[in-house]
Amino acid sequence: LAIFPDRLNSRGLNLNIAGIRTPFFTTLDKLSTQLWQASPLIGGKAETRGTPHTVFSPQDHKHAVGQVHFADKAMVEHAVSTAQSAFVSWRDTPVEMRAQALEKLADLLEAHQAEFISLCTREAGKLLQDGIDEVREAVDFCRYYANEGRRLMAPSTLPGYTGELNTLQAQGRGSFVCISPWNFPLAIFLGQVSAALVTGNTVLAKPAEQTSLIAQLATTLAHKAGIPPEVLQLLPGDGATVGAALTADPRIAGVCFTGSTDTAMRINQTLAQRQGAIIPLIAETGGQNAMIVDSTALPEQVVRDVVRAAFQSAGQRCSALRVLYLQEDIAERVLEILKGAMAELSVADPALWSTDVGPVIDQGAQAGLMAHLAAMQEAGNAFIAQTPLGDNCHNGYYVQPTALEIAAIGKLTKEHFGPILHVIRFKAKEIDKVIDDINQTGYGLTLGIHSRNASFADHIARRANVGNVYINRDQIGAMVGVQPFGGQGLSGTGPKAGGPHYLTRFITEKTISNNT
Ligand code: GLU
Repeated sequence: LAIFPDRLNSRGLNLNIAGIRTPFFTTLDKLSTQLWQASPLIGGKAETRGTPHTVFSPQDHKHAVGQVHFADKAMVEHAVSTAQSAFVSWRDTPVEMRAQALEKLADLLEAHQAEFISLCTREAGKLLQDGIDEVREAVDFCRYYANEGRRLMAPSTLPGYTGELNTLQAQGRGSFVCISPWNFPLAIFLGQVSAALVTGNTVLAKPAEQTSLIAQLATTLAHKAGIPPEVLQLLPGDGATVGAALTADPRIAGVCFTGSTDTAMRINQTLAQRQGAIIPLIAETGGQNAMIVDSTALPEQVVRDVVRAAFQSAGQRCSALRVLYLQEDIAERVLEILKGAMAELSVADPALWSTDVGPVIDQGAQAGLMAHLAAMQEAGNAFIAQTPLGDNCHNGYYVQPTALEIAAIGKLTKEHFGPILHVIRFKAKEIDKVIDDINQTGYGLTLGIHSRNASFADHIARRANVGNVYINRDQIGAMVGVQPFGGQGLSGTGPKAGGPHYLTRFITEKTISNNT
């Protein structure tokens, strides 16, 4: 109970209960043809100049979801000046008021969850269950950071010489740039934004260009919840125009980024080369995540967790399982069950409750994954199982869930962000080499271990350079406040999202030694 305070983790929706499911699907049906709009929101004004882009669904590129106006460089410039002017008054607003606005936002997100779930399926191609989880995580972030903000921003009195009063105060740094990904278009968008806001920063939010509509709805609700429009501004657009202009601006005070390792490195370079102070970059990036299974593991449990970790969300989570290491004595048994499980997966429209795997985000993602599969086949890697696409997948960006064997993790030169599982067999005596090979990739995000031998699991957990270790379960779906999330090395800078240290990178500290 101490870990789950009453108001922390959101309950979500249980669609297995007919009384909840039926009205929910009626609402989703009504929302299924709604056309949404997004545009830069600068100082509270929607900038709708120019021709908007039409947004189509990843599962059906004829299905329009809405229209988006992207920001240009002049708008970025205007938004940064607006954020600068709004900073001092937001910094000096009592943290209690900022925290209450986030809690109000959490309530509004729950009240509007059907719209978000509908948009998650239509704009981002996410499963209904993923949409439900997405809203829950966003709500959790708002409430968790509200409380963490209250804790961190409270001034503390320190011991000192008699007559001297020493206090330590945390305060916002300035204008924070938040650049978020399409795979968690609500949860990570609001996770970044709420952390920056509660600590007293103004925010320039650049959502992934694929999911601007969801970001627009979230921003509008944040304004409704009491976040002033000059304090939170939205700049939809692509990385080359909006992201590059924001990160090069000498007036910004920090960058919070979730996305690819390559982009994080580019941002790091831009920050290093720009004029102005040295500022924090909080980056959460990719992974080459492994699961190690020894011969004491329970094969059915392993397969359940492998299928979820590798294929849920079409493998489009940075936590997702990419490389499954099977000790040779158990490998055949696990693979046999895995083949059976993969044959049962339904690859179809994400808006159907029966779907297990939806589309990938866009044509570029689909082409990259297909090219990887073709290269693997060409190189002679054995394909273990491949789930056929369901009917009605021809208009969408689907990729067949695939399991294939590879000789070594080092053969993968980059992260393949989709439903592709690579399998490697190993001998018991090679376990340290397996861990070293995983460490050698330079990535260090999630690691799964399946074993009933506690000292074996402990040994791996200690030796592996990763941010999140999961023993005898799947390795996705970190819960806010319960499994703080984030990696090491090429996988990110820390601090961990949804953990007690996250907010510390958003603040600056002031010590006042007072002898009056
Ligand atoms: N926190 C998510 C999870 O544990 C992954 C976040 C991401 O993909 O960026 O599955």
